[in-house]
Amino acid sequence: MRILVTGGAGFIGSHLIDRLINEGHEIICLDNFYTGHKRNILKWLDHPYFELIRHDITEPIRLEVDQIYHLACPASPVHYQYNPVKTVKTNVMGTLNMLGLAKRVKARFLLASTSEVYGDPEVHPQSEEYRGSVNPIGLRSCYDEGKRIAETLAFDYYRQNKVDIRVARIFNTYGPRMLENDGRVVSNFVVQALRGIPLTVYGDGSQTRSFCYVSDLVDGLIRLMNGEYIGPVNLGNPDEYTILELAQAVQNLIDPDAKIKFEPLPADDPRRRRPDITKAKTWLNWTPTVPLSEGLKLTVEDFRDRITNTQTSTTN
Ligand code: NAD
Ligand code: UDP
Ligand code: UDP
Repeated sequence: MRILVTGGAGFIGSHLIDRLINEGHEIICLDNFYTGHKRNILKWLDHPYFELIRHDITEPIRLEVDQIYHLACPASPVHYQYNPVKTVKTNVMGTLNMLGLAKRVKARFLLASTSEVYGDPEVHPQSEEYRGSVNPIGLRSCYDEGKRIAETLAFDYYRQNKVDIRVARIFNTYGPRMLENDGRVVSNFVVQALRGIPLTVYGDGSQTRSFCYVSDLVDGLIRLMNGEYIGPVNLGNPDEYTILELAQAVQNLIDPDAKIKFEPLPADDPRRRRPDITKAKTWLNWTPTVPLSEGLKLTVEDFRDRITNTQTSTTN
């Protein structure tokens, strides 16, 4: 099949492309390199089944493909809040363009939505029926509301134009290739511990998240795309940790003497988050397999290589 991956030079997108190429598919990777990086897809640049297009999805584009994994959108609060209007445009105009493309070529379209559609949830754990508690005018709204309208667009194209959609609500995902300056909690803690600087815990660290290793997530996306269930479906690891517990796990792995520094909690930071994955289990026969301890080890190895190499090259 010929498969378009928008945001393919990013963290999740590049892992997805690795899997799809290894399965023998032809890949078009579309990315504007806002948070993505060429090094993530470097190994495929000369591959006959791989094509890279530098393009901003807020502009229309005509391509001929069988499937579209629509991932293009900055995912870290630091990056999506840097230019919030652009984040809205990417989610609204970008998703509209990709749905228009899917409609024209009759491609199956998978939207990478997010647990952020549940906002600061009053229901725990979050199931797909929960409609969320989102602040429409806050700092996170460009992303949360952007993804909500992206879901709305997907379902309207499905009902109105018979576009064959799939909607995944992705929960916090981590792993190798996250940017060192990504700003999300796993990469921040790992980079801080490796550099010997204090781990920055926002608030008192009692807020919770559930962390999914990237290979599990990619497996869920591929199952969703190729199954019959359209979603929305939660994809995430239901093992829930406080942020302080995560900091301690990173300390144990890298440096038990690493210091912790408490900093103010950002506005609208969700208090807790854990996916109910009954639907993913039932419809996709999917369940995450990589525990945090194992996934963190693999992530630390990747960051250790990059950070050691950067330090060596700056001292040379
Ligand atoms: P990422 O920032 O690493 O990747 C996003 C990619 O999209 C980057 O390569 C970026 O350059 C590209 N991009 C951004 N705006 C674009 C535009 N206008 N045109 C073309 N390309 C553009 O993030 P990620 O963690 O890989 O996330 C991928 C997708 O999964 C995103 O849609 C995100 O919302 C969703 N998601 C991720 C998580 C997570 O924990 N990583 C959780 C929920 C949802
Ligand atoms: N679009 C695109 N590539 C295509 C087909 C459509 O980028 O191959 C864009 C198109 O420019 C439009 C959007 O997708 O802005 C929605 O397309 P649709 O056909 O649904 O709506 P219309 O063009 O009628 O507004
Ligand atoms: N967080 C933290 N220290 C950091 C980065 C994040 O304590 O250096 C907290 C953040 O306030 C939030 C949680 O970790 O409560 C997850 O943040 P992240 O940005 O990774 O994802 P999201 O808030 O989008 O789930």
